[in-house]
Amino acid sequence: SDDSEGILRRQSQRESAARTYARSLPVVPVRARGMTIEGADGRRYLDCLSGAGALALGHNHPVVLEAIRGVLDSGAPLHVLDLATPVKDAFTTALFETLPPRLARHGRIQFCGPAGTDAVEAALKLVRTATGRDGLLAFSGGYHGMTAAALAATGDTAVRGAAGTADARVTRLPYPYDYRCPFGVGGEGGAELSARLTESLLDDPKGGIQPPAGMLLEPVQGEGGVIPAPDTWLRRMRELTAARGIPLIADEVQTGVGRTGTFWAVEHSGIVPDVMVLSKAIGGSLPLAVIVYREELDCWQPGAHAGTFRGNQLAMAAGTATLAYVKRNGLAERAALLGDRMLARLRGLAAEHPCVGDVRGRGLMLGVELVDPEAATGPGAVPPTAPRLAAAVRRAALDRGLIVELGGRDSSVIRLLPPLTITEEQSEAVLDRLADALAAVTA
Ligand code: PMP
Repeated sequence: SDDSEGILRRQSQRESAARTYARSLPVVPVRARGMTIEGADGRRYLDCLSGAGALALGHNHPVVLEAIRGVLDSGAPLHVLDLATPVKDAFTTALFETLPPRLARHGRIQFCGPAGTDAVEAALKLVRTATGRDGLLAFSGGYHGMTAAALAATGDTAVRGAAGTADARVTRLPYPYDYRCPFGVGGEGGAELSARLTESLLDDPKGGIQPPAGMLLEPVQGEGGVIPAPDTWLRRMRELTAARGIPLIADEVQTGVGRTGTFWAVEHSGIVPDVMVLSKAIGGSLPLAVIVYREELDCWQPGAHAGTFRGNQLAMAAGTATLAYVKRNGLAERAALLGDRMLARLRGLAAEHPCVGDVRGRGLMLGVELVDPEAATGPGAVPPTAPRLAAAVRRAALDRGLIVELGGRDSSVIRLLPPLTITEEQSEAVLDRLADALAAVTA
C-alpha cells in the first residue's frame, strides 16, 4: 500500500540500518511549506530540524521555487560539470557579498560537493598541500562529516567506528564546553585554560605535536550538542594559529547563512579564518558545498581537485535566492532577536525541570541538555547525561506535532534549528509543545 505504514515498513526492510533520521522520525513527508511538514497520514508537524540546518528559509520558500523554475524554464543545462555559467557567476557574486571583507577581496572559491563532507575533504587536502604538512588539530565533540578525512577529524568515536577511520595525524583538543568543562572551571576561565593547553602543546617541543597543516573548528558545535565557543576563545585560536603559520579552517556548514544571528558565525568574534567550509543552507535546500580561502593558499594544480557534481545549477540558483533573501530581509538579525527570546523561555523550562541541565545557543541554533539530576555525584557536580529521557522527549514532541533532533554527548541534547523565517507565533507553538512533551515525560 502507499499509506505511511506500508512505506515505513518497506523502507525499514530494504534500507540499511545506517538510516539515521528515519529511525527516530517515523514521518513520511509528502508536502511541506515553510516550517510545516505534512505526512502521508495527513498529520502536520512543525519542523525544527530544517533539513539538519539546510533550510534557512524553511521548506519550498516561494523565492527558492521561483529561482529553480527560472533555471528550468530558461533552457539552461542542468548539468554543467564545473563550467562557468551565468547561474554560477550570480551565485559566486552573491556569496562573496556576504563574506568577511578580507576574504571577499582576496579570496578564492573552490566548488566541491555536493555535500558538506566533500567540502571538509577539500579544505583538509588544500591546507595539507599548501603547507606540506599533514597533522591536523581538531576538537572534542566536533562533527565534520562521514568521508575519510572529515570523519577522522570528527570527535565521536562511535560514529568513527573501527572501519579504518582512525587517523594518527589528528590531534584532538578540548572544545570549550562550558557546562561540562573538563577543567571544572566554567565560563571564559575554562575557555582560557583550553586555549593555554593548546598553546602549550604547540610550543612544547617534547609535546609530541608536529607542526600541523591546519586547525579545524566549528564556531558553534552543532552535532556536538549546540555548544557556542566563546568569542574570546575563538580570537585566541585565531591569534595562536596566525602566529605559528597554521591555517585556521572554520567549518560553517551548519552555522552559516544567518543561523547564529550573524551571516557567518565567525562574525561574532570578528575572526577571519584562512578557510571557510560552507554547505547546507548555501544551496537553498539543494546539495551544494564550497570552500572559500585566502588566495595565498591556492596551491591547486589544474585538475587537482575534481568532481562530476560541482556545478548543480538548480542548487546554485536556489542558493543565490536564499543568500539574497536572508540579506535583504535582515534574517540574521531576526534570528538573533527571536533566538534570544526563545532562549529566555527555555531558561524558564530549566528552572522548572531539574532534568534540564543546561540551555544554550546562538541565534536560532538552540540546545537543551537533559540530565539525570538524581545521579549527580555530589553537590554542585554536573549530573550525567540522560539519553533515554532525551529520546522520550523527542518522541513525545513528535506526538505533539513537533520535529526536533538530538545531538551532543550520548544524544542527550535536544536541538532546535527552526528556519530563520519562523514566525513569533510558531516559535511560541514550538516552545509550548516542547514544554508539554517535557512535562508529559517527567510526570
Ligand atoms: N560539518 C558540520 C559542522 C556539519 O554539521 C555537517 C552535517 N551535519 C557536516 C560538516 C557534514 O555535512 P554533510 O552531512 O552534508 O556531509
